[in-house]
Amino acid sequence: MKRFVTAVFKHETNTFSPLPTPLSAFGRYNPQSGPTSGETALRAYRGTSTPVAAFIDIADEQGAELAFPIAADAVPSGCPDDSLLDHAADRIIESVSAGCDALFLDLHGGMVTRGFDDPEGELLERIRGAAPDLPIAVSFDFHTNLSRKTVDNATVITAYRTYPHVDMYESGRRAGDTLVRALAGEVNPVMVWHSLPMLTHLNRQTPSRQPMKDIMDRAIAAEASGEVLNATLLGCFPLADIPFVGLHGIVVTDDDFAGGTALLDELMTMAWERRAEFVFESEPVERSLAHARSLGDGPILLADHGDVAGSGGSTDVMAVLEAVLREGFEDVCAGPFWDPESVARMVEAGVGATVTLQLGGKTNFPAIGLAGRPLEISGRVRRITDGRFTVTAPMNTGTSANLGRCAVLDTGRVEVVVSEDRHEPFDTGCFTHAGIDPARKRYVLIKSRQHFRAGFEPIIRHVVMVSGPGITSSDYGIYPWERVRRPIYPLDLDAPANLPVRPNR
Ligand SMILES: [Zn+2]
Repeated sequence: MKRFVTAVFKHETNTFSPLPTPLSAFGRYNPQSGPTSGETALRAYRGTSTPVAAFIDIADEQGAELAFPIAADAVPSGCPDDSLLDHAADRIIESVSAGCDALFLDLHGGMVTRGFDDPEGELLERIRGAAPDLPIAVSFDFHTNLSRKTVDNATVITAYRTYPHVDMYESGRRAGDTLVRALAGEVNPVMVWHSLPMLTHLNRQTPSRQPMKDIMDRAIAAEASGEVLNATLLGCFPLADIPFVGLHGIVVTDDDFAGGTALLDELMTMAWERRAEFVFESEPVERSLAHARSLGDGPILLADHGDVAGSGGSTDVMAVLEAVLREGFEDVCAGPFWDPESVARMVEAGVGATVTLQLGGKTNFPAIGLAGRPLEISGRVRRITDGRFTVTAPMNTGTSANLGRCAVLDTGRVEVVVSEDRHEPFDTGCFTHAGIDPARKRYVLIKSRQHFRAGFEPIIRHVVMVSGPGITSSDYGIYPWERVRRPIYPLDLDAPANLPVRPNR
C-alpha cells in the first residue's frame, strides 16, 4: 500500500501590515485554534472546494494511506514569526521520514516570515534535504511570489487560474494528477518558469477580464490540448516588499524543455506587451460615491478595496462608511467591520438598546503614516450572532466561516455589521446569517476588491470600486519600497523584461 503525505501551509503576507500573525491565527476556519492535523484536518477539508480536498480524493482513488501532519492557514496580515516555518517543516519532514511515496502540498506562495522572504522555498528545500528523491506536487494561490528555490525543489507546480479563486480544487487536481502519472511512469515532469519585473495591480489581474484573460486562456488551452502537462500564470501578491514579486509563468511538460520554454516565452511576451494595462488608476472616494448615486436600480455594491482583510487590511478604517453617512446614503448594509470592543459594547447593551460607539479606527499604520481614527456612530442594536455560517458561494464552498461574535447596529439609514475577527466578504453569509438580505438593499458597502464577485455578483446590479485609505491601497506611491527588485514596472517605467525567456535547466 502506498503512503502519501499532504499538508496545508498558507498565508498571504502584507509586509506593510502592522497586524500580528501568531501561531494561534493559523486555524483559519476556526479562529484562535492554531494549526490542526490528522483526523481533525481531514474532517475540516474533505469534500470542500480546496486543493487539499483534491489531494484527499486522489489518495482515496489510489488506495493510498494519507498522512496529514499539518494544516496551517491564516487570514492575511503582517509577517509571521519564523517559528511557524520551523514548526511546519518539522511536522512534514517527520511524517515524510516515516515512509512516503509522494507529497502533496497546498501552499499559498505569498508568505513572508520575519526571517525569510521565501518561506515556501525554504520549506521545500528542507523537505528535499531530508528526502532527495521524493516526488512533490504543489498547488499554489494565483497570488504567489515565485522563487527559484521553490521551483528547484518541487516536481510539479500548478496554481489557481481564477480570481476570485473558484478553481482551488481543480488546481489541486491538476498538480496531483500529473504527479500520479509520474509515479506510474507515464510522464517525466520538467518545469520551466519566468518572472517578469511587473508590480501588477490586484484590481487589474483577474483572468476573467483583460489584460490577463487572453494570456490565461492560452495557458488553459495549452494544458487542455495536451501541448503541455500544466501551464499557469501567477499574478503575484504585490503588497510584499521582497525581491520575488512579479508576474510569473510556470509550465510543466513531459520532458519537453524546448516546447515548455517556447510556450512560456509566448505567455510572458503577451503579458509584457500589455504591462500598462495592469495598472489601476485610483480616484477620490467622493467621485466614486457620486458615480454610485447616479446609477439606477440597486443593489449597488460599493467595494472599498483600500482596507481588505484578504490582502492584510484591518477592516477597521472607517473613512468610506463615514463618507457614506455624510453624503446621506439610505437603505445601506455595510460591513463586516473589525472591532471586538464595539461588539462587546453591543452584546452588553443587548438587542433593542440604543448605543453610541467609537467604531473601528483602532489600528495605526506606521508604514504609510496613517493613524487609526474611530467613527462616532449611534443606533439601535438590531441583532447579535455567533458569526458562524457555512460558505455556499463558489469560493471556499462548504468551509465553515467564523467571524467571532457579530453585532448589527442599525442607524436607521445603514445597518452596520461589526465582527470580532477580520473577514473578507466573499459570501453573502456575512450579512444573511445576521438577518440582513443584501439583495433587498439599495447599497451594499463591503471591504473587498475581487473575491466578492463570486458570492455577490448574482444578487447585485452595479459594482463601484472605491479607493478608500488603508494598508491594501492600490496607490503604490504611498508604500516605502526598499527590498523589491529594481527596476520594476510601473515604479520604473523603463524596466527591462529579460525576454526572450532564457532556458534555465
Ligand atoms: Zn489569492
